[in-house]
Amino acid sequence: MPEDEKKCEHPSCHCPAKEGSDFCGAYCEGLADTPEVQCACGHPECEPVARV
Ligand SMILES: [Zn+2]
Ligand SMILES: [Zn+2]
Repeated sequence: MPEDEKKCEHPSCHCPAKEGSDFCGAYCEGLADTPEVQCACGHPECEPVARV
């Protein structure tokens, strides 16, 4: 993974953020104030499977 890869600001999200954004998408941007919610942005990185 490249060093400059920025993570989505959502605490429950594991996706890389979109370029020019702090979030991976509108889903996380909208839920930035509710970080306790399990991320369900739909990206494969974020499948609610593993406890890492
Ligand atoms: Zn996510
Ligand atoms: Zn995200």
